Amino acid sequence: MTTPIYYVNAEPHLGHAYTTIVGDALTRWHRLLGDEVMYLTGTDEHGLKIQQAAEEAGTTPQAFADEIAPKFAAAWERLDIAYDDFIRTTEPRHYKAVEEILQRCYDAGDIELDTFAGKYCVSCEEYYSDDELITIDGVPDCCPIHRRPVEYFEEENYFFRLSRFEDRLLDWYAQHPTAMKPEHRGNEALGLIKGGLRDFSISRTSLKWGVPLPWDPNHVTYVWFDALTNYLTAVGFGDGTEGYEKWWPVDYHLIGKDIVRQHCVYWPAMLMSAGIDPPKGWAIGGWLLVDNEKMSKTSGNVVNPLDLIDDIGLDGFRYYVLADTAYGNDGDFTYDGLVARYNADLANNLGNLAARVATVVGKKCGGVGTAPNPDSALAAVAATAVEDTTRWWDEVQPSRALDASWQLVRATNAHLEANEPWKADPGPEVDAVMGDALEALRIVAILASPAIPSTAQAVWERIGQTGAVTDQRVPADTAWGGYQPGADVIKGAPLFPRLKA
Ligand SMILES: [Zn+2]
Repeated sequence: MTTPIYYVNAEPHLGHAYTTIVGDALTRWHRLLGDEVMYLTGTDEHGLKIQQAAEEAGTTPQAFADEIAPKFAAAWERLDIAYDDFIRTTEPRHYKAVEEILQRCYDAGDIELDTFAGKYCVSCEEYYSDDELITIDGVPDCCPIHRRPVEYFEEENYFFRLSRFEDRLLDWYAQHPTAMKPEHRGNEALGLIKGGLRDFSISRTSLKWGVPLPWDPNHVTYVWFDALTNYLTAVGFGDGTEGYEKWWPVDYHLIGKDIVRQHCVYWPAMLMSAGIDPPKGWAIGGWLLVDNEKMSKTSGNVVNPLDLIDDIGLDGFRYYVLADTAYGNDGDFTYDGLVARYNADLANNLGNLAARVATVVGKKCGGVGTAPNPDSALAAVAATAVEDTTRWWDEVQPSRALDASWQLVRATNAHLEANEPWKADPGPEVDAVMGDALEALRIVAILASPAIPSTAQAVWERIGQTGAVTDQRVPADTAWGGYQPGADVIKGAPLFPRLKA
């Protein structure tokens, strides 16, 4: 599982956090299934923008990158991201991998010297054709992403002959029709291929900050052969270690919709040229928009995820970004939306359920967990929740997976409302109702743990279960009846204190 590597020209923001949290939750879900997962993230540190930014700051590009990269690592620690490796493209291991893949493509005859002239967005580090550029406030030739004028460049470059790969890519995707999720984003990538592929430039002589081409060191590798290859570097490509055999091809590249062309068109073609298997899958997300604009340094609408955590708690924030937007679509971030989602699903639903179960067990069952009823009506609800949650994580739809898990939360609250154990006298009937609720909470804790790991563990412990919720397995441990009665049930502080809108 990989995130894109994040460019060190900006500090971590909500957009970065979004993709990284989705990947983290998906990683945790697969670990619940018993899969061994390596989750990779990191930083992209070369290129013209860093070279320029370092010059402006009166420092070296390496010192500039050294200052920003740890901020990403620190943000991921703070967001409880279970990553296994953090790659930086300025590491020696990466230079070796980039040189290896470049040399393979060159030897295959797919990299050639040519002259290039075109309109270039420095922020994208990408040439654009006239029909891709837009006019803004009467200013023609603006980048469709950065909304600023592009520049005219002409230079001698090495090119990767992407145009030769059109049929091979279409054939490959025809044989792997579900490789790109969700389908509508995959169709956009196929549309790019069917629309015709242009060779792309892979080197610059004007650029100093990057990996020199092994056969012509006057040229420095420019963007994509450098950035995309990080995914191979981290598993030991080119250094003879075992990781590469074990982990490649990658199961999921998590990417944003703005880098589909590079990840779903350029990258598999580069790999095919180098004699390497393409990825098994891509999960393509939309953007989290703020006031309907993509968050970016240039538009000045950057939301710092760490500020939000102070208000809403780590798991509240994680839950919101996973549950509020269907993965693949654009989400519209608003503070009101964040509070509304938090109050509805976490404070009023899961938090309330956990609190009322502990309260009633305290008053009616002596504070000790009771056994669930094997024939409970909730058993079927739980089975459906497990099945649907599994299906939606498999489709990389965290919002739907969480909604499926929350069906059990809602049904359990309704079960309590229907039976009103708080009004009944202590006895076997109340014990059975509360046993059902405890069992439902146990299953919910497992199912919700990829999204809200620390709260899931707290629920697990408060209902008297031992060990780590993350050590449970789906579906073995989510079968109805696994609750271990007889332990103290603890109420504790509210898991999700209600927030004022
Ligand atoms: Zn741009």
